[in-house]
Amino acid sequence: MNPLMKVTANRIILGVTASVLTIAVATVLEASSGHDHWGYTGQAGPENWGELKQEFTTCKTGTRQSPIDIDATQLVPANLGDIRFDYQPVTPEMLNNGHTVQVNYANGSRISVAEHQYELAQFHFHTPSENTVNGKAYDMEMHLVHKNTHGELAVVGVFFKQGKPNPELEKLWRQLPEKAGEKKRLSGIHLSAADLLPKNKSYTHFNGSLTTPPCSEGVNWFVINQPLEASAEQIARFAKIIGNNARPVQALNHRFILSEK
Ligand SMILES: [Zn+2]
Repeated sequence: MNPLMKVTANRIILGVTASVLTIAVATVLEASSGHDHWGYTGQAGPENWGELKQEFTTCKTGTRQSPIDIDATQLVPANLGDIRFDYQPVTPEMLNNGHTVQVNYANGSRISVAEHQYELAQFHFHTPSENTVNGKAYDMEMHLVHKNTHGELAVVGVFFKQGKPNPELEKLWRQLPEKAGEKKRLSGIHLSAADLLPKNKSYTHFNGSLTTPPCSEGVNWFVINQPLEASAEQIARFAKIIGNNARPVQALNHRFILSEK
């Protein structure tokens, strides 16, 4: 081989190697960021959600974003009225979607609040809590996601603090789907989301958004003040599967946090 041919051959080999490397790196990035290409750490983390995809822009430009800090000095007293919970027992389906464990709920369960009705679609969990109270996060937060006939969302937030084991939660936790994409129908289990609510259902109310991409706004939030308890082991069992899945608190901007007078 003359020297010129050798240089050309090297260039070709280098070129091929570079392309193979590019493909390999792209594949690794895709795998590590999970499906939908967003997550809670690094490049795919909450600080960058708004840049990841055109559809996620609201995560960056929105002014009524969730979660928030429920700061006692910001509470505005109001006549809120009770939330009526009309939840039926179901045999739930549990899904690990890579971002949380979600319990899909059959049709026919709803809340009524100030003459509005919203149907329960699913509930899921975050560790630690996403909304905070006076700057402090709880150990876990459950979000019960409801929709009305116009497609508007209402989310009821329930905090969990470390304490006694929670027997209702244990019915679900015994069968936690451990792998992203895994779905389980919990046959033999009859469970009502009503049993995963604190006795005292007083709440704060504010407008916000989804706490995950695409961070859509116009979500009615109702966060129950009284936390439930779950054991350290129960909280750790969820965190071990999902990891930290709490978006940091967002600016309140020109919003009011309403609280019962
Ligand atoms: Zn949530």
